[in-house]
Amino acid sequence: MDSWKLIYTTKCYNCGKVADQIIEIYSNQAFVKCSNCGATRYYILKKVGIEEDNIIEIEKDKKMKYDNWFLEKNAKCYNCKKYAPQDILITESGMYVRCRNCGFTRFYRFHMVDVQKS
Ligand SMILES: [Zn+2]
Ligand SMILES: [Zn+2]
Repeated sequence: MDSWKLIYTTKCYNCGKVADQIIEIYSNQAFVKCSNCGATRYYILKKVGIEEDNIIEIEKDKKMKYDNWFLEKNAKCYNCKKYAPQDILITESGMYVRCRNCGFTRFYRFHMVDVQKS
C-alpha cells in the first residue's frame, strides 16, 4: 500500500491555533502532525478486517473530548483492489480507514503524542 498524505485544517489540540494538520497513513502506522507547533500523534495498526458500514457512524457520534475528524480519499483499496472512496475517521483514541466498496477496515490505535520544542 502506498502511504497517503492528507491535510485537515483545524484548531490544534496542542497549540490551540487553527493550522494544517498533516496526516500520514502507512500500512502499519499513522501520524498526525501540526504544521504550526510540530506536535505529533502516533497511531499503530491494531486490527484489520471487513467491518459493517456503520462502524464509522457509531464512532463518529461518540462524544469525545476533542472533535472527531472525518475525511475521505479516493484510493486503490488494499483488499478489493478497486479505486474507491476510503472513509477516514480520526478520534482521540484511534483512526479508522474503511473502504466504501468492500468494507475493509484498518484500525490504528492511538499510541503517543510527541510535543517537540523546536
Ligand atoms: Zn499545534
Ligand atoms: Zn475495498
